[in-house]
Amino acid sequence: MVFHHQKSDITIGQKLNEDCAVVGYLGTNAYANILFGLKALQHRGQETSGMATYDGKIHIKKGMGLVSEVFKEGNLEGNTGIGHNRYSTAGSKGVENAGPFIISGSIGYVGLSHNGEITNAHYLREELKSKGYIFTSSSDTEVMLITLISEINKYGIYDGIKKTMLKLKGAYAVAIMINNTLYALRDPYGFRPLIYGRTSDGYIVASESAAIDAVSGDVIRDVNPGELIEINEHGIQSVFTMNHEIAHCMFEYVYFARPDSVIDNKEVFNVRYNLGTILAREHPCKADVVIPVPDSGRAQALGYSVESGIAYSEGLIKNRYSDRTFILPDQKSRYDAIKIKLNPIKSAVKDKNIVLIDDSIVRGNTMKYIISLLRKEGAREIHVRVGSPEIVAACYFGVDMKTSNDFIAYNKSTDEIRDAIGADSLGYVSINGLKEAIGMSSLCLGCLTGKYPEDIPPHAKPNYT
Ligand code: SF4
Repeated sequence: MVFHHQKSDITIGQKLNEDCAVVGYLGTNAYANILFGLKALQHRGQETSGMATYDGKIHIKKGMGLVSEVFKEGNLEGNTGIGHNRYSTAGSKGVENAGPFIISGSIGYVGLSHNGEITNAHYLREELKSKGYIFTSSSDTEVMLITLISEINKYGIYDGIKKTMLKLKGAYAVAIMINNTLYALRDPYGFRPLIYGRTSDGYIVASESAAIDAVSGDVIRDVNPGELIEINEHGIQSVFTMNHEIAHCMFEYVYFARPDSVIDNKEVFNVRYNLGTILAREHPCKADVVIPVPDSGRAQALGYSVESGIAYSEGLIKNRYSDRTFILPDQKSRYDAIKIKLNPIKSAVKDKNIVLIDDSIVRGNTMKYIISLLRKEGAREIHVRVGSPEIVAACYFGVDMKTSNDFIAYNKSTDEIRDAIGADSLGYVSINGLKEAIGMSSLCLGCLTGKYPEDIPPHAKPNYT
């Protein structure tokens, strides 16, 4: 499920909000294992957290806030379960939209934790409503779940899931629980990551491998695009794989995923390091020091430093206790806010020619404020290098970027962007450089090119009337 960016919200030091995290577990003590998994994937969603477990009955807990705030105490009984962390913005906040969604029907309890965005949810919702189905939320996950139940009722579980996939457009990496059986399902493009592994006493499914590490599990493999995996008390099997052109989200590697995760056999840290080395080759520069924007630019800055031979230094210290998004009314308080979050190390900055590296620039506010902070501390020259190409178009597949006008690179030349952020020079990694760094070309590049792997239904676009 995804919720749209509100133009009036200014997030400081947090350029984009990720879609969601999913975790599923079958084994012993689903609650503890899912809890650890959700904590490991907190970066993918901080607004709500939820879990459902099954032991003949369903047990559910959902709430607003971080995993540690929602699951302060207690337990949910059962050996099978699914969990979810969600990001939302004003207008779509509310526990009624929190995952996982559970519905009881003729086949028992069916639950769904979803990462992604169903682009034709509007049409499916109207179709289902006309057949008498009732919705309790505005979430596309509920649309997916009701579609699933309606198709399973007609065709049985495997064919019902297949028929549901044929109806859905968009991105979905999901953990499904049908009574005490767990399923992992990834859309045929494989936009969002989904991986599964084995623990000492069960199986875990998660958005990222870091969640499998968190329960001391061993990764088995990624769920393939279009694949359904079934896990029950007898073991694990791949049920079917629908064929399609693969289009993994490049932004998972560039920014969203944890650097210690491995997605589709590529270690995220290594990709980011490669981006830094390629940046150094594509956009060399004479400088005294390479400084990352913490924490997002570290691996890229290290790669740039090693490739260019320019010394690496921490130059900005992040206040780790000032992580939450906040809304600020004016320019002055936004500037103060970034000072609370990031503070320069004077000796690393004063009288220095700096290569300042970040993973991406979306709206440009944060980069602009960081540059003015560094100039105030006496930086001589600031050369910005960016570990992704220019973001110029919306995402319809689960990332909170909907309005192209918000993007600083939209309809601007590199020189115009450089002037807008106040840098002395600016260089973005090229699209070919990005593909080389990731080591694959089967990528979604929609927000870089405006060309998407599949058509976007009109209702998925903002301001559609
Ligand atoms: S449009 Fe961009 S952010 Fe969205 S899935 Fe494609 S690459 Fe990822």
